[in-house]
Amino acid sequence: LLDQAQQATGENNTSEAFQLLMEADQRILGVEDSHKKFIDISIAAESAIEILKRIGVSTGESARLLALADLERDKDYDSAIEFVAEALDSAKSTIESHSPNITGTIDSPGLQEDAEGDVDITLKNIGNVLAKEITMQLSGQFEAVDAPRIGSLNPGTDILVRARIVPHASGELPIRVNITCKRHFDGSLLNFELDGKVSVFSAGPPYTIGRATETTKCAHCQGRVKSGFEIVTCRCGSNLHLTCAKRTGQCPVCSQKFSF
Ligand SMILES: [Zn+2]
Ligand SMILES: [Zn+2]
Repeated sequence: LLDQAQQATGENNTSEAFQLLMEADQRILGVEDSHKKFIDISIAAESAIEILKRIGVSTGESARLLALADLERDKDYDSAIEFVAEALDSAKSTIESHSPNITGTIDSPGLQEDAEGDVDITLKNIGNVLAKEITMQLSGQFEAVDAPRIGSLNPGTDILVRARIVPHASGELPIRVNITCKRHFDGSLLNFELDGKVSVFSAGPPYTIGRATETTKCAHCQGRVKSGFEIVTCRCGSNLHLTCAKRTGQCPVCSQKFSF
């Protein structure tokens, strides 16, 4: 297994090398002969350090422990084994501490019940290594029209993904995004969850023209709208003087366009 791991490292296949190494590490635990054990663990530790170098990670602590183990070997075999095992553990935990971590935000510019619309999802990799083969699944009171393809995300970068959905209700709807990705150097699968809300306008016309039934405020000029005035009621709930709506051409609250 260690030979195979070294070969894979030589071929720059760090993913396979890492997995072989972890398998070898499990087997080494069962080895009784202390000389053989020392040799096996040092090969494993050297391979792990080699993987760290390949993925561009500091090898300082593991390399130091490995050197100590070598010095100790002439004096005390048991403590040499302890040092070399520590070197391997240190390399392993350094590898494990390198992981993608995906967070994000959810935003909906203007969804309407029973109509296809966009949800803007910004994914950000706040981890320290590349996330690859990212997938995203949306769940909530809506039908997801398509699952956008994402690809990879470098650490410290973000990406805007636009998902199309058909909401089955209106109001503030909770939305959950389940994200999976693979760590680039060993392909291990990671899961993340993103929770948010999307606001959905009720079905029906985007705005109506009518007469105010009570005194209210115009969303455009902030002036009083007396009962009986001609008004435009937008899908977002705001009221405007009809003359103001004609002048401005769009809702100041939700940007719905008016055409008369
Ligand atoms: Zn007005
Ligand atoms: Zn509006």
